[in-house]
Order: sequence, then structure tokens, then C-alpha cells
Amino acid sequence: MKARFIPGLLAALLLLAAPALAVETKQQAEAPQAADKSAPAFQIQHVRNATAKLTSGDATFLIDPMLAAPGAYEGFANTYRGGMRNPFTPLPMPVEDLLAGVDAVILTHTHLDHWDPAAQKALPKDMPLFVQHEEDAKLVRGQGFRDVRILKDGELIKGVRLERTATRHGSEAMYADPVLARALGEVMGIVFTAPDGKKAWVVGDTVWFPGVDAVLAAHRPDVIIMNAGGAAMAIPAFQDAPEIIMNKDDVLRMVRAAPDAQVVAVHMDAINHMTVDRKDLARFTREHGIRDKVLIPFDGEVMDF
Ligand SMILES: [Zn+2]
Repeated sequence: MKARFIPGLLAALLLLAAPALAVETKQQAEAPQAADKSAPAFQIQHVRNATAKLTSGDATFLIDPMLAAPGAYEGFANTYRGGMRNPFTPLPMPVEDLLAGVDAVILTHTHLDHWDPAAQKALPKDMPLFVQHEEDAKLVRGQGFRDVRILKDGELIKGVRLERTATRHGSEAMYADPVLARALGEVMGIVFTAPDGKKAWVVGDTVWFPGVDAVLAAHRPDVIIMNAGGAAMAIPAFQDAPEIIMNKDDVLRMVRAAPDAQVVAVHMDAINHMTVDRKDLARFTREHGIRDKVLIPFDGEVMDF
């Protein structure tokens, strides 16, 4: 009786165990890959303007997708070269390739050059989207997205830790003007910590302010992706200090403030109000002997760190 019963029981146990075994096999197959010391802590593809794809461990993030074709939008009102249409340049790859493998989208804020109708149309509506606050969440949910989350400080996504950093998207004087303060709005920066502890900081749209020094001191990032196009307002009251993001002087300041970091300068050559282009910045970094400290990627370039 007993002897006959056992094979049946074993078969049942094996059947029950089959899915668990399958998972175990998969983990074993993946283990050598995870332990691969040659895999970069971060792989960052600069797409265009501030749009980037960042992969770390098993996680791939799409940051600030602005996906329109050249000339799709009017220039930003009251800004430098406001009569030009945006963006200037096409995406360097088909949208399907850009979206391949993306686990989540991160919006540092919702200005048109970071989140546009073309991106809203291209992204699947169930794509997880992380935003800075309830106001942006409400806006993005209103655009039909069903999985919109406010990024929590210290959020862990597939083994990568995300911490929010402060910004100031213009001068103090600009923020003292309520209408302009509202237009400039709020932006988050993000420090990504890879599973191996290496840190990459997406600085976001900001001028240099004490919060920048605070992040450098607190995190000592290994990679610093800075929006360095020197975007400028064209309002007479602010003509002496028209910038609303960092410029080439800030790139030099960043290299001096974080001499061990690799600086990556982006947010140039695509939007009307940039006062710095990649050629200017390359020349400037050569003149100041910091060319080797600053990567100025072309659209579509992939960088391993
Ligand atoms: Zn911007």
C-alpha cells in the first residue's frame, strides 16, 4: 500500500515543485550576469536636450521625454530667441527603440522641453511615471496615465535607490515675481545610487544655488549630469542675470567643486532659449584645461560609467 502510494506522492510533489524549480534555474542563470564586474554601474544614453535613458543593474529609466519632431512647437515666450520653433533637431532613434526595456519614466518637472504632447502620445498609458509632487501627478493623470507616483525620497526601484535633490529654476529675483515664479515652477533633481554604491546625479533645471553645494557635500556623486545650456529669459528687468539653468561658467565651477566626478553636460542645441551650444562649451572647456573632465555627448551617444 505504502510503496504504491509514494510514487504518486512524489509525482505530485514534483509537479508542485516545478514552477519553483523553474524560477530557481532562472535565478542561477542570471546570477553570473549580476556578478559581472565588467558591467557598468550606469549606462546613460543621451537622447536629446534633457531626455536620457539611464540603466543601472536591472533597472532602466527614461528621464524627461520630449519626443516631438523638429519645429513642432512655438518658442518659449519672453525668452532668448523666442521666435524660433522647438525642437531644432530630430530624435536620434525611432521612438520604439527609445522605449524598449524602459521600466519607469521620471519627470523632473513638466515644462514642454521635458514632457511634451508627443511623449504623452507615444508612452503606453500604464507605464509607471514618477513625478515630483501632487500637482504634476494630477496633470499627468489628467493626460490619461494610470500609474503615476510621487517619487519618495530613498525610493528603491529594482535595486537602484533614488533620492530627490533641490533645485532653483531661475534667480532669486525671478522667484520674487509671483507670475514668473509660477511659470518657472518647481523641479526635482535625482541622485541614483547603483547596486554597487556608485552615484549618478541628474542635477535638473537649476541655477547654481546653495542647494547644489549641499548635494555635492552629502552625496559626492561619481557622475554629474548637468543641464548646461544657459537657458535665458528675455525680460528687461532680469537682463543682468537672465539665466534659468546653469551655463558654461557653472560647468567650470562644477568641475572645480567635484574634481573626482565625471561631468556630463547636456540640454544644448535643441531648444530656443539656450545661450550655450556644444561647440561653445567644448571650446570653453579646452581653454580652461578641463576638456577631459567634461563629456559633451552628441544626441544618441551611449556612455558607460
Ligand atoms: Zn529644461
